[in-house]
Amino acid sequence: MAELLKGAPVAAALDEKTREAVHLLKIRGVRPTLGILRVGERPDDTAYESAAVRRCEKLGIEVRRVSLPEDVKQGALLAQIARLNSDDNVHGVLMFRPLPVQLDEEEACAALMTSKDLDGVTPGSAALLYTGAPGGFAPCTAEAVIALLEHYGVPLEGRRAVVVGRSLVIGKPVAMLLLEKNATVTVCHSRTRALPELTRRADIVVAALGRAESLTADCFAPGQTVVDVGINYSEERGKLVGDVDFDAVSGLVAAITPVPAGVGAVTTAVLAKHVVRAAGGML
Ligand code: NAP
Repeated sequence: MAELLKGAPVAAALDEKTREAVHLLKIRGVRPTLGILRVGERPDDTAYESAAVRRCEKLGIEVRRVSLPEDVKQGALLAQIARLNSDDNVHGVLMFRPLPVQLDEEEACAALMTSKDLDGVTPGSAALLYTGAPGGFAPCTAEAVIALLEHYGVPLEGRRAVVVGRSLVIGKPVAMLLLEKNATVTVCHSRTRALPELTRRADIVVAALGRAESLTADCFAPGQTVVDVGINYSEERGKLVGDVDFDAVSGLVAAITPVPAGVGAVTTAVLAKHVVRAAGGML
């Protein structure tokens, strides 16, 4: 059986550093504050919001929640973003996406100040990530993948990493972060030919394709580390499952993240860390 790379110990280790940084900020008179901007009541968003608020409160981070109705107009959304941008008491913002169809998401993301963009949604954040320049924030889930690998001491430098998925939220930023760590990275997607041949040759496989249990045992080899970012509800199994067929693969590889309780458990800890960094805390 593979080593289980659970998210909770990673989150706890991150939280310890964040709590200390919050304490130091408060001594300087700074109260780190997260702004949350949500449009509508999507259950995924409200569940994530509750988890983020719980973690922040536990760590002494304040939260300013703004929720707008599902049918909000673009102008009202942009006005709200402008208010959060200019509010010096809000250090960073999490804006839930996707936005409802009547809204121009690209324009909304671009309207957020890069220095407050805690989840890496603005073009400015993407530029910083892709140039490797300091100062920006990567999407929290992408950074959670790296935090998890580093926590468990998985060597990255010079290793072959295959990322399955090329979304702006996960696949591409994970690939960039792995490159920063000097891994040799291959990015696969829906048009990739002979995917199992590529994944089998990797030292590390990051699965972020959003297809329930679709990476089966033939995609893997002994000795590999597998990070499953996928979160899918399987009607057939009546539970949450990842993008990797855990039951078949966990007997083959060296280490694997569970779903749930893997990467997902680290994401809000990374968000809290980002709030503190945006507030000027050393992390
Ligand atoms: P997405 O935007 O739908 O992107 C999926 C990517 O996978 C695309 O690049 C797509 O390729 C590729 N893909 C689809 N089918 C494929 C196949 N058969 N073979 C190879 N590549 C394939 O999804 P996402 O937003 O990146 O999310 C990915 C997964 O992560 C989802 O399960 C989501 O629920 C989960 N997630 C988890 C967290 C967390 O905290 N753990 C956070 C966010 C999302 P093309 O580009 O060619 O279409």
